[in-house]
Amino acid sequence: MSIENTAPETVPAGAPADATGLADATEAAVRPRPGELQMAAPRRPKPPRHLADLTAGERREAVAALGEKPFRAKQLSVHYFDRLVADPAQMSDLPAASRDRLVGDLLPSLLSPVRVLECDGGATVKTVWKLFDGALVESVLMRYPQRATVCVSSQAGCGMNCPFCATGQAGLTRNMSTAEIVEQVVSAARGLAHGAPAGTADGVPDAGAFPGATTAATLGLGDESDESGEGDDEDGGTPAERALRRARVSNVVFMGMGEPLANYRAVVGAVRRLTDPRPDGLGMSARGVTVSTVGLVPAIERLAGEGLPVTLALSLHAPDDELRDELVPINTRFSVAAALDAAYGYFRATGRRVSIEYALIRDVNDHAWRADRLGTLLNQRGRGWVHVNPIPLNPTPGSRWTASDPRVQDEFVARLRAHGVPTTVRDTRGREIDGACGQLAATAG
Ligand code: SAH
Repeated sequence: MSIENTAPETVPAGAPADATGLADATEAAVRPRPGELQMAAPRRPKPPRHLADLTAGERREAVAALGEKPFRAKQLSVHYFDRLVADPAQMSDLPAASRDRLVGDLLPSLLSPVRVLECDGGATVKTVWKLFDGALVESVLMRYPQRATVCVSSQAGCGMNCPFCATGQAGLTRNMSTAEIVEQVVSAARGLAHGAPAGTADGVPDAGAFPGATTAATLGLGDESDESGEGDDEDGGTPAERALRRARVSNVVFMGMGEPLANYRAVVGAVRRLTDPRPDGLGMSARGVTVSTVGLVPAIERLAGEGLPVTLALSLHAPDDELRDELVPINTRFSVAAALDAAYGYFRATGRRVSIEYALIRDVNDHAWRADRLGTLLNQRGRGWVHVNPIPLNPTPGSRWTASDPRVQDEFVARLRAHGVPTTVRDTRGREIDGACGQLAATAG
């Protein structure tokens, strides 16, 4: 089965079209019927091409096609990926005439912040972004003492229709481009560098005027140079440059809106841009990246062969097909056994321990026997290849479901551990701002 969403599909009836004939994406998605899957993304005008869509070689070609010297591609990459700058006024190493041409062509603005919401004392920040066609997506920045994690969206909406997930209820508007995904991370990094929420910062000020430097440096955010082996020179450069190096995003999780593996090409491109060494990309460690999926088996198999050792998270939510068919409708195509086999194959190919996501829903999937069944299924495939992340359900508006009783949750965890399966309940940040797992619905109001 094809997992690439390139198949043409008619734009839903009633989707508005503007005077240019381009469909506007603001009201495009159609609410799916229960259990209905939307495998192919609606065909829509593509977002403008951006530096982050291109490999280093493609950038040189693009720059040459503009009549510029190919080495300008590298200069532009340093500005965007290393300095986090997209403002031509701050690119003093480029001749004035070239700047506007290069920035105009290769650094179009892709995301505009619509709303920025904070909670956890400012440690969690959700940004609602408007894309070029009006589609709305969300990203969440979570700061921890030693790291900073960005939860990114990979599609506007989602076609997987999981009934407990707010995003799934709204249907799929369109796939995001590689650069639209990467921009969420770059914006968050700018926010960290400024000590300000993502979406409020636009470019990094020149050395000297750098209000967030102390904050970022004090918190030591994103400094994972030991893991990535990038060996930052802590002594080099101005205070602003040093703070910028420290204000790096250490982790990116594809757990925002959308099913990343249903937008395979753009997501793998984004992972490459995040992990490409600077200045070709952000220079992150692949170990800091987690791709979460409902279990699109062919795509998991393909990902295992990419040579990108990202962490795979499988959203299982039930160990039996009968219940999983309802909770994760893709299960009607790829069963529990098939999804687990693919996840185990991923571990075998990459050596990366797989995460099993399990939203605990009161009296629906939280029974002790289901914990036992899950433990057995995991151990049948091997030991030490997997850990389980139970997530207390974040109830979505209008849902008849709620989180499990804490004692039931404890018992569920204890049973899995008794099977020898490492199990940690996921810390869910951002509940009050509808920024926690499954709450991203992207309303501008
Ligand atoms: N499409 C991907 C990414 C989705 S969001 C996937 O399904 O894996 C990341 C995680 O949040 C998934 O495990 C998803 O099942 C979970 N989730 C969705 N809605 C939730 C909710 N209301 N409460 C708790 N977790 C939820």
